[in-house]
Order: sequence, then C-alpha cells, then structure tokens
Amino acid sequence: MNVRSLKFRLALWYFATVAAICLLAAGGYWLGIRSSLDYALDQGLRYRLMGLRQYLEDVGPGGNTEIAARLNEISYLGDLYQVFDGEGALIAQSNGLARHGVVGKAPSGLGPGIRFDTGGTNDFPVRLAWQRVTIRGQSLVLGVADPQRKYEGVLTAFTSVLLVSAPFILALATACGVWLGRRALAPVARITEGARAITETNLSARLAVPDSQDELQQLSETLNAMLGRIEESFTRTRQFTADASHELRAPMTLIYTAAQHSLRRERSREELVESMQKILDESRRTVALVDDLLLLARGDAGRSTAELAPIDAASLVRDAAGQATAMAVAKGIQADLHLEADTLPIRANEARLRRLLLILVDNALKFTPAGGRVTVSGSSDGAEVTIAVADTGTGISPADLPHIFERFWRADRVRSRETGGTGLGLTIARQIADEHNARLDVQSEVGHGSVFTIRFPKAVS
Ligand code: ADP
Repeated sequence: MNVRSLKFRLALWYFATVAAICLLAAGGYWLGIRSSLDYALDQGLRYRLMGLRQYLEDVGPGGNTEIAARLNEISYLGDLYQVFDGEGALIAQSNGLARHGVVGKAPSGLGPGIRFDTGGTNDFPVRLAWQRVTIRGQSLVLGVADPQRKYEGVLTAFTSVLLVSAPFILALATACGVWLGRRALAPVARITEGARAITETNLSARLAVPDSQDELQQLSETLNAMLGRIEESFTRTRQFTADASHELRAPMTLIYTAAQHSLRRERSREELVESMQKILDESRRTVALVDDLLLLARGDAGRSTAELAPIDAASLVRDAAGQATAMAVAKGIQADLHLEADTLPIRANEARLRRLLLILVDNALKFTPAGGRVTVSGSSDGAEVTIAVADTGTGISPADLPHIFERFWRADRVRSRETGGTGLGLTIARQIADEHNARLDVQSEVGHGSVFTIRFPKAVS
C-alpha cells in the first residue's frame, strides 16, 4: 500500500480520530464510574451513621457499659462501627473492625457535621464516616466504616471489558477507515482516469459530471471548464498559426515571383530596378508583419519588454494629430486636435504609445472617405487620462464590433489587403493598452463613424 496515498492517509486519520475518541470516552466513563462508586460508598456510610444514631437513641444510652453491651448485641450483623465517649475513649468496636486490627481512635476537632476519612490497615483499608452526637445529654463520637474495596470489583470488571474490547474496536475502526477512504476516493479515481484519457487529439472530450451536488461535481465541472478554456486556446493558436502562415505566404510568393521573373531572361536595368523595388516593398511588409507577430508572441508569453515611465502624453497627442494632418491632406480629409488639458500625466512607454496612436490614426484615415474628419483628442479628470481618435468614416457594424480586436480579423479582407492592413493593428493596440493598464474601447455607428478611446490611470506626480 502506498503510504503517501490520500486513501492511506484518510484511513490513518480515521483510525487516529476514532482511537482518540474511544480513549477519551473510556477515560471519561472510568472516572465517572469511579466517582459514582465513591459517592455510593459515602452515601451508604451516611445512612449507616444515621441508623447507628437512631439505634442508640432507641436503646439507651445509659452508661458506657450499657452502650457497649447494646452495640455488641448487633455486632453479629457484620456492620463495621466504633463508638467513643466525649473524651475520645473507645466504648465499643464491632467485631469486623477489631478482627482486621483497625485501631479504635477517634479523630480530634469533630463538629456536628459528618466527616469522611480513610483509614484501616494496609491489608484492610477502609472508608470512614464520623459524627459527634449528643444522645440524651451524653456526648458520643460515632464512627462507621466500609471496606474501600467494596465496589472495586465493578471498576475492575469495567476496565477488563475496556481492555478486551479495545483491540476489536480499533480493528473495526481501521477496517471502516480503509472502506471509507476507498469509497470516498472512488469518484476521484474515475475523474483521474477520465482526465488521463484526454489528450490534444480529443480535446473536445469532457469528464463525466456526477449529479451529486457535492465537491466532486464541482471538481468535474471546474475541470471541464478548464478543458474548455484549453481547447479554446488550442484552437486559437492553431488558427493563429494558420493565419500567420497564410499572411506570410502572400508577400513571400510575390518576392519569389518577382525574383524568378527577373532572372527568366536578360533584363534591362530599369526592369531590374522595378523588380528589386517590388521585392524591397514586399520584404518591408514581411519584416513588419514578422515584427508584429513577435510583439504579440512576447505579449502572449508575458514577456513584454515595455518599461513604463512618467510622461506627459499631451505632446504625443499633438504629434499624432500632426501625423493625421499630414496623411489626411492627400486623401482630402480634415484632421483636428482637441486638447482639453495642458498636461496628460501618465506612466507609459513612449515608443509603444506612439505605435498605438499611429494604429488608431491610420485606421481612422483608412476607413474615412474624402470630405470626412478625423479628430485626435486628449482630456484628463480626477483619476483618468483619456485619449481618443474619432472619425466620421464607414463605422463598424454591431455584428463586426466584437471581432475587431481579434488577430487577423478584417471586415473586408480584400480591401484591407489593398490598403496594406493585416488585421493585427487593433490586436497590437489592445496589447499595448493592456501593458499600460489602460482600457481600449470602441463606439461605432455604421455610416457615421467610430471613436476609439484609451483610458489610462492618471500618474500621480
Ligand atoms: P487592419 O490592418 O485591417 O487595419 P486592424 O486590426 O487595425 O486591422 O482592424 C481590424 C478591422 O477593424 C479593420 O479591417 C476594419 O474592418 C475594422 N476597423 C478598424 N478601425 C476602424 C475604423 N476606424 N473605422 C471602421 N472600421 C475599422
């Protein structure tokens, strides 16, 4: 048996607990019985003392000789007693006490109450009850006794029963512990087996959930939820790899074709320059795409290299608006800047933040037709700094909105390729926002335009 297994430890704990409870209970019973027996012994002595007193009141007392004679008359009854006069001189002692060599000696300082005492000899220890009484004007000291071992047999019998039954009780406890451990952990073994059978080839399989409304049902449901998340992440990774390969294939094919075309026959210098330019453009796109993929992969692995420092984002907002203006002119779009605060203090990585703003400005210009307007704005309130890029462009349909931050997602794949979009821009934008503990949200209405808002926690100076 594996001594480290939960089953073994459960059985051991069960055994230890039952043993401890049995030991405590047995000790408690033993003490309880002993104190009850002591009480019964004392109670018996109390009644006998009353009886002796009653007897003397009824028969005497007369003189000491008379008392001794009366007491000797009842000595054959076997009671253990002794009676002294007021000065402590022994008047009579029952045969039982005399026979066992108990020396008749009254205790000093006795009051009217009953006093209990132990005495007798080593061979015949007794429990004694004393009382000073006055019978018809004569002061007497009455003493009655009982062998201390009178009820000892009861206690010995009880102890024997305990000692004999203890091994059986403990053996039963062990057996129950083993059985309980096995029974309690059987569903866990089933869950383990089920989980073991799930590999990357059948990630859609789930564990059987027992309808037991207990921790094991919770465990199965939690594991199933975890499997769901793992499957989702697996699917996403597969999809990402497929999309990335697809995206990389297009420029690589163009580079390959351009090179092949140039080498097919003798080319003029102009033709070669044109081919090389095509190759250069596609290589640049490929490098940019690989850089983006690397950035996302680093973010996924939690190895983002962005170090944050306190900056004033107002200048970045101004620069973004400047860039928008420069790019907008050619498209016949108007670009505006709206700065509602002098400073926008945040903790940021300047290069990364510039990239984020450029992605948003670039998209705004891409999806806004001539005659439209793109506005870059910055504002600050008590706790937040807000930067927004708004456009009056095509807008995003409610059906598309939940997808725009997904990798490689584009509302219009064909158009995006023409405009150079890979569908990674907003994914990177959100990753950068996350690195800054900022929230990137979007509000959009088809035909009216979109507003992308980034809310940063304000840096305390
Ligand atoms: P892309 O490289 O295609 O721009 P993004 O991740 O930046 O990739 O954007 C994903 C998609 O979200 C875009 O293809 C477009 O459909 C939509 N989108 C992003 N920004 C805007 C915007 N300002 N107006 C309308 N649609 C937008």
